[in-house]
Amino acid sequence: SGRWARAMAILTELEEKCGTPIGKLKQVGDAMTVEMHAGLASEGGSKLKMLISYVDNLPTGDEKGLFYALDLGGTNFRVLRVQLGGNDGRVVNQEFTEVSIPPHLMVGTSDALFDYIAAELAKFVATEGQGFHLSPGRQRELGFTFSFPVRQLTIASGTLIKWTKGFSIDDTVGQDVVAELTKAMERQGLDMRVAALVNDTIGTLAGGRYFNNDVIAAVILGTGTNAAYVERAHAIPKWHGLLPKSGEMVINMEWGNFRSSHLPVTEYDHALDVESLNPGEQIFEKIISGMYLGDIVRRVLCRMAEEAAFFGDTVPPKLRVPFILRSALDSLLKGMELEDLPICWVLFAVSQLIIMGYLGIASGMTPDMSAIHHDTTSDLRVVGNKLKDILGITNTSLKTRKVVVELCNIVATRGARLSAAGIFGILKKLGRDTVREGEKQRTVIAMDGGLFEHYTKFSECLESTLKELLGKEISESIVIEHSNDGSGIGAALLAASHSQYL
Ligand code: ADP
Ligand code: MG
Repeated sequence: SGRWARAMAILTELEEKCGTPIGKLKQVGDAMTVEMHAGLASEGGSKLKMLISYVDNLPTGDEKGLFYALDLGGTNFRVLRVQLGGNDGRVVNQEFTEVSIPPHLMVGTSDALFDYIAAELAKFVATEGQGFHLSPGRQRELGFTFSFPVRQLTIASGTLIKWTKGFSIDDTVGQDVVAELTKAMERQGLDMRVAALVNDTIGTLAGGRYFNNDVIAAVILGTGTNAAYVERAHAIPKWHGLLPKSGEMVINMEWGNFRSSHLPVTEYDHALDVESLNPGEQIFEKIISGMYLGDIVRRVLCRMAEEAAFFGDTVPPKLRVPFILRSALDSLLKGMELEDLPICWVLFAVSQLIIMGYLGIASGMTPDMSAIHHDTTSDLRVVGNKLKDILGITNTSLKTRKVVVELCNIVATRGARLSAAGIFGILKKLGRDTVREGEKQRTVIAMDGGLFEHYTKFSECLESTLKELLGKEISESIVIEHSNDGSGIGAALLAASHSQYL
């Protein structure tokens, strides 16, 4: 019928626009390399911030003692303690807990967020028991993994450049996040020192290196996406300080903000960006990371429903719940004065509900998309149930379900292949994309994040695309290693190597 043909036309057009032939991926990889050079050359020289991390030594295995780590980066935060036993003992003992962040704290005040975190941390410290030993007379030390763009001042201080991933707390921007956390810990009566402030990519890199000497880069594919790698210090023109003894410096690329005219973007990406909390920013992230993939799929389905009656004569209302709710709300809240307090209060309560709904959709859709994509039943039962549960669409035909799976495939494949192109760019920058005469070097990339970990079709596509880009010979020496929560251990290790007692 005409409707079906129209729906197929929308799908085909999407497929064309999302195309990532190998030539295009190489262009994207090259653009990444070029931007890396530019970002290292001067401050503000590129969309890639290429932030200097102040980590010039990665863990060696010698680290000893009790250390804590706190990982704040998305919808949850994790607190961890680890007893390090040096080269023989390694990780003697470790414990962690995970706490979700109430959505209203992601858009409230800085004090409220950090008070909440410090209180949870204090609770965790109070449960420290057998198997963990703090040397007498010492203060507890913490590695703070904070996965938002920070301008690092020293290894243990840095100011927030901007929030991403659904966080939006104006009064934290420009502040030293370590000072914010330290003040909150003091308010909780918790005696603890932040010894290292790192990004999750750097934590993952440090954790990866602790277990494998060949780790040279780390990539996160979770709610957001980012990468870090080890650079030669003299290849960082914008670095005017003393050259570190190691001759190396870890760079936090903030690659989520990468953009290039070679990136295949569609009208759906454009709409998502415009309606997001940070329009015009984090373009790479918006095409490949978990926070957005599911919403891109939703947008295409919505269009198919509106223009081709894909789900029948009416458009399922849930397909229309967009990010725009948030933006409307933001402007509303910004326009309010203190004297409006009572009504402000009511609006705030309402807004919290809406934000919760919004966050549910933002981060909740990608796992659903993944479940749809991985459905192996002959009648695509899982797809049918998902469409019913999430969108309230019943009685879908097998034909319709197949189209939905194909849609997920198109969006996931583009994301995975572009992620591979980004990694290819890093390898090129380091000259590890070619075989060198007589040299047999192994290269390991530590990878973490819920998207990579749980979305198998995504991670398989990423790995096969990287092989495709590198060619058979080189790809034999390059390994992607999934490091399960390496970033927590990594932050604790960096706290150990930057302890005040060394
Ligand atoms: P964060 O990035 O917030 O630190 P994670 O690394 O745990 O947290 O990643 C969580 C994200 O991973 C979720 O927001 C979601 O986008 C994605 N994710 C989690 N589970 C799945 C899944 N089964 N399939 C696809 N994506 C998933
Ligand atoms: Mg994380």
